[in-house]
Amino acid sequence: MVASPADLPPGFPQWNEQDVEYKDGRDPLGLDTISVDQILPRILPGWVANTRRTRYLSFYLFLLQEFHERGLGTSQTELGNFIRHTEFEFALGVLRHEAGNHCGRGAVGVAGFNRAWGAVTSGAPATPRTAAIPSSASGGYGQFGYRGVLVELGLIALSGEQVNGSTLSYDRLISDRARAIASRYRSDVASTTWYRDYLGGDHDLPIGIMDEVVDAGCLCLLPQHTAERDALLTAITTPGGEHPTEASRSARRKHAMTVVLSAIAQNPRAATELGELRRTIWSLGTAKPDGRVTVFEDWAALIAKEYYAALVGVAWHHLNTIGQTGPHDGWAQPALFDAVRLSASGKLSCLGATIHGADSLTSATYALTVATEEMHPEDVIQEVRKDGRIAASLAGMMVLAQRLAAYDGPPWSETLGLGTRAQSSVARTLRRLREEDHRPFCDVAARLTDELVLRPHEALATAKLGWYNPPMHSFRFRHERGRVYFFRDRDISDRGVGAPRFSALQTMTRDLGLWRDADGGGQVTADGAHMLQGLVA
Ligand SMILES: [Zn+2]
Repeated sequence: MVASPADLPPGFPQWNEQDVEYKDGRDPLGLDTISVDQILPRILPGWVANTRRTRYLSFYLFLLQEFHERGLGTSQTELGNFIRHTEFEFALGVLRHEAGNHCGRGAVGVAGFNRAWGAVTSGAPATPRTAAIPSSASGGYGQFGYRGVLVELGLIALSGEQVNGSTLSYDRLISDRARAIASRYRSDVASTTWYRDYLGGDHDLPIGIMDEVVDAGCLCLLPQHTAERDALLTAITTPGGEHPTEASRSARRKHAMTVVLSAIAQNPRAATELGELRRTIWSLGTAKPDGRVTVFEDWAALIAKEYYAALVGVAWHHLNTIGQTGPHDGWAQPALFDAVRLSASGKLSCLGATIHGADSLTSATYALTVATEEMHPEDVIQEVRKDGRIAASLAGMMVLAQRLAAYDGPPWSETLGLGTRAQSSVARTLRRLREEDHRPFCDVAARLTDELVLRPHEALATAKLGWYNPPMHSFRFRHERGRVYFFRDRDISDRGVGAPRFSALQTMTRDLGLWRDADGGGQVTADGAHMLQGLVA
């Protein structure tokens, strides 16, 4: 495959293979980045996917306070080491806390789970101290995003920042809210042997030393500590300062939580199943306006974008499958598109409709409308994923285009209008579909595959060569001297329809005691219901 430089056309990237890292890019079509970088910062400011356990916020505030008051160090590096070790100790307790809900082996979002689990199950009576996540300088505090959330909530300032005229050498609490939460947490664990004799030390830990700590301080016990819980809820959902931006950012976080709670109130399974959460939020967001609809519409629009991404993912996988059946010396591009067109030709059954590949989109739209009338978009997407063909992907997009035609107000147009240089916005793709109603179904399938899969991937993978050192080779296919070569594929259509932040919202609201486990999912608590009553447009 590697030709001598003299044979290469001008501009062809040349590299020494040893110096290139071969990787599956995590977002080969540039669709996730639209949600993560553009949509979510707007509708859920300051939150990331890994900040899943609310009480870590208290725990880290407590650690920052202890580090400072005990004088355990003077630098961010020392703080990071202290945190990484203490996270490991805390994890020992959480993983032995079988009595609590969602602790022990089934615990999610625990920093240092693997290392602590090894120690807990080793049978040894004691364990040496270790860092929970050795690869990260500040452990789960940094890597899981809690540090960023605490900044966002105005609770801490970071090392290097100026506070009261001096530059901080390590992260510090900066508000009364933060100090109150840290002190409450401390009062829960201050009588334990660990707090008195082990915290910040370096001798081996008896395996059961943390049992006493998690008796009051476990991640699962926040709802029982109502003052601490209320203080956290206030910090998350109300502004800490006067700046108007803070007010709108905290309001949007509250909205996000109420959207999830509303969904759980309607459908208990939405508490624990992402598909059910998407399904219910979509239904809430596309119900007719009743004054509160804007909140749901923001999130329904995000879900529409994720449905779209899943459909493109199906086309991606099918194109790769077709590509790998091709000739040894690569595909001439026209032959590749003929193969795609062929896959969407003849008499096809998609989503329960019979479509003829040579027919116009208009007639296919009619057949699809009739066949999918009773289907929720969630089911449409799941059907298309099961089907796996480019034809089904296009059929799914046609259904989505039709369902979304009625929603062109601001939340929808803002979210669905977002694209990147490499990747089209949802709105643009669906608008073009509506304009192409006279074209044959199979031709549109080929055009979409070119514009949504082939070109974006090559553009993004080419860019990634330059973003990383050593260069990252994430091409699944690429052009070389006029032919398209397919390398390998990892199926991204199976990765779950994107549900960015939804898992975090589920567990964060549960940890806050806004819903609790119930048969078949979750049930909104009295506190949760109280929050829903405050829901306004
Ligand atoms: Zn627990």
